[in-house]
Amino acid sequence: MKLNYTSTEEVPQIVEDLRRSFFSNLTKPLSYRKNQLEQLYKLLDENDQELCDALQKDLRKPRTETMLGEIAMIKQEIYDSINNLDTWAKPEFVKVGIAHKLNKCQIRKEPVGSVLIIGAWNFPILLLLLPFVGAIAAGCTVILKPSEIAENCATVITDLFPKYLDQNSYRIVNGGVKVATVLLENRFDHIFYTGNGTVGKIVMGAAAKHLTPVTLELGGKSPAIVANDADIPITAKRILWSKIYNSGQTCIAPDYVICEKSVQEAFVKEVPRIVEELYGLDPQNSPDSSRVISQKHFDRLTDLLNKTEGKVVYEGNKDKNDLFFPATVVSDVPKNDSLMQEELFGPILPIVVVENLDEALEFIRSKDIPLAMYPFSNDEKTIQNILDNTRSGGVLINDCFMQFSVSTLPFGGQGHSGIGNYRGKRTFDTFSHERSVMTSPLILERLVEVRYPPYTEKKLNF
Ligand code: NAD
Repeated sequence: MKLNYTSTEEVPQIVEDLRRSFFSNLTKPLSYRKNQLEQLYKLLDENDQELCDALQKDLRKPRTETMLGEIAMIKQEIYDSINNLDTWAKPEFVKVGIAHKLNKCQIRKEPVGSVLIIGAWNFPILLLLLPFVGAIAAGCTVILKPSEIAENCATVITDLFPKYLDQNSYRIVNGGVKVATVLLENRFDHIFYTGNGTVGKIVMGAAAKHLTPVTLELGGKSPAIVANDADIPITAKRILWSKIYNSGQTCIAPDYVICEKSVQEAFVKEVPRIVEELYGLDPQNSPDSSRVISQKHFDRLTDLLNKTEGKVVYEGNKDKNDLFFPATVVSDVPKNDSLMQEELFGPILPIVVVENLDEALEFIRSKDIPLAMYPFSNDEKTIQNILDNTRSGGVLINDCFMQFSVSTLPFGGQGHSGIGNYRGKRTFDTFSHERSVMTSPLILERLVEVRYPPYTEKKLNF
């Protein structure tokens, strides 16, 4: 399927149209927002097979993973947003001190304006539409820029969009770097970007020219810290599942394991049994195995693996033509190894061996703040020690991934793993401005006389 790119000449007009539309107040009534959220729900509900097919073509993503990991999550977010919108959008009356007792002070939740959402290819529907739900709920007009790399998904979404959603308020712009660059030259009221940190800096630089606030959902090397007392069979299964899921192309995948030597031995022993249990004896032909996105990424992973000084203790047959990169476990990986430089974003699991937990925590602190952290231990004190002595966007204890599915937890990074967060009400808040509105009564002018000149000592003793 060939994705049609939006022409760069068209982009400024689309931006202008949506800006005008915002100022016409079209998107402000709550009834309108709820209706458009219902329409988005319908789009997903009536076309799930088409969306699954597109993801199958782009990433060979299994239907179950698309239905549960992308479509069901967006539908739940829509459902929650419709049900809570009246409460979220309600003006909040604040308590005031004695000096303001006669004033009415409230915070109005107003849409920030016209916003841009840029999605990434690894969860091409989820990462585009999940923030979109909050932007609709907040009452913004929105330009969506899907990742051009997952081109089947971008094409299907672009086809379906005008059939369900109001084009006066929401538009899709397609393209690569050229189109994205032109988009970013324009002024938006918020930019929500998901992707890698290098482009994150470009987005932030472009936004700074207009003093536009940004949310940056980036990645990083998220560690799985396996303590000596961890339940190794369960730990290994959970880590391997989340590392192999989507061929490791998940921003919150555990990037590497860090543990003591004895734990590494026990962990490595479990690997063949678990991979076979999940993907059979021939993982390439398992219907549940996804693919890496492109030959470029396949080569990048192969190159990193060729350069490692660790021991490859588990691997399978790679097939570049089929973009199949098998689960690969590398033990005794030096801290400065090729596998420990960048986020791997593939199904390679390095294991770094340390003398003790303190050394593990020191190593984690020496690196950029990761998006996620996965401590595995049954000991409360060990967990507390890890939490107290590290930083990360989020933490999930004794499991991987599932923190993203809780819409009441903020999802986002810190430092190199991102700026801002979202999910549920927080997405609504991201695209809303808290506008202070104070109403002053005209009666009882006598009470405010104190502020007017001529100033006297008597007024100071008021
Ligand atoms: P990508 O290549 O799809 O790029 C993301 C978006 O940026 C695309 O829409 C692309 O067109 C746009 N883009 C590319 N170059 C640009 C430029 N010069 N100017 C403006 N826009 C540009 O995806 P990717 O970056 O390869 O995604 C993988 C990364 O994203 C990983 O680091 C991963 O950890 C991170 N990620 C983070 C999250 C999260 O929620 N925190 C989710 C998924 C992925």
